[in-house]
Amino acid sequence: AKMSSAEAIQLEDKYGAHNYHPLPVVLSKGEGVYVWDAEGKKYYDFLSAYSAVNQGHCHPKIVGAMVEQAQTLTLTSRAFYNDKLGVYEEYITKTFGFDKVLPMNTGAEAVETALKICRKWAYEKKGIHENEAQIIVCENNFHGRTTTIISFSNDENARKNFGPYTAGFIKIAYDDIEALEKALTSSKNIAGFLVEPIQGEAGVYVPSEGYLAKAKALCEANNVLFIADEVQTGVARTGKLLAVQHEDVQPDILILGKALSGGVYPVSAVLANDAVMNVIKPGQHGSTFGGNPIAAAVAIAALEVVKEEKLAENAERLGQLFRSELDKYIQTSSIATLVRGKGLLNAVVINDTEESDTAWNICLALRDNGLLAKPTHGNIIRFAPPLVMNEEQLMDCVSIIVKTLKQFEN
Ligand code: PMP
Repeated sequence: AKMSSAEAIQLEDKYGAHNYHPLPVVLSKGEGVYVWDAEGKKYYDFLSAYSAVNQGHCHPKIVGAMVEQAQTLTLTSRAFYNDKLGVYEEYITKTFGFDKVLPMNTGAEAVETALKICRKWAYEKKGIHENEAQIIVCENNFHGRTTTIISFSNDENARKNFGPYTAGFIKIAYDDIEALEKALTSSKNIAGFLVEPIQGEAGVYVPSEGYLAKAKALCEANNVLFIADEVQTGVARTGKLLAVQHEDVQPDILILGKALSGGVYPVSAVLANDAVMNVIKPGQHGSTFGGNPIAAAVAIAALEVVKEEKLAENAERLGQLFRSELDKYIQTSSIATLVRGKGLLNAVVINDTEESDTAWNICLALRDNGLLAKPTHGNIIRFAPPLVMNEEQLMDCVSIIVKTLKQFEN
């Protein structure tokens, strides 16, 4: 028998660890920009699993590649070679312009991998003692949930009482080039600068124009690795294949995840040139599932879809439209004060405090009106639909969002 939404929620709440706070909606089907709940109600997805489903739900080409590979060979581990991985490695490195890739599974795991590569590079190439390497990170960052990564999180929920924490991180303000310059020259032991080109979980903060290019130049001048976490911003989300490409920046280490698989399978990757990546030698890092044949087949298909369907161009065009349409409404709104973002990674700022329930209540009303989004804070709602959306659908969504926001005007 088919399960009702109420039953599904009850089961998850009873048997699942309470590590998340989901919006009360139970999804049972997805296609393109749409998802359906257990009762068959249809919604626009404006979260895209935190920017993983850029290619749309259940994209037939990606699912097809996965099914075909799943019927042939699923997993070998890296104890052996497999006949898909090299093909994928050549394809992804050429796509992003790097010598080498290190395949992993989740975003956090790829961030951890990048931090390890950076520290080893600092030891081998700069003679920094392994207990002394420092990596610069930004206030309000989000890079994942592992012990090391939460060690430099500002999010009290994510961090508190999970110590002892990993040492070796210096935190500076985001979008503050002077703070970076000061930190870079504060010690001989600086190994890297880890940054999100747009801060996603922090509430979609777009840094000032030129920040990333200046930051990269400063890192280069100080022989420090510029590490871009594009887990959320990458794979066409912001209107270019990578968000750093808006400023013609090529990072020393690039971290990808989420949409690298179109959301059909966990696939992440760390990319770098030989001078950096070759510090990792056989036996020094690894993962049972990283680089498995399904992941390779899925990621090739997912990247092909991005190119074939011109998803970066579509995100750029529809993103402009989204912001300009919402801007019109915001001029006269008492509830929404600002729309910001790049491509189809946007946020609307609500006229209330960070601690309020307002954004959450608006998201519940959006759900009732057929659109799923999730707040990052009590006063910020992120809007990140699949990039396969068309203009007519986008305008339909704008009217749902405006109609819903109007319900909250006073
Ligand atoms: N880095 C960034 C910038 C992210 O937004 C996220 C996920 N929201 C991660 C890393 C972690 O990815 P995952 O949840 O796959 O571990």
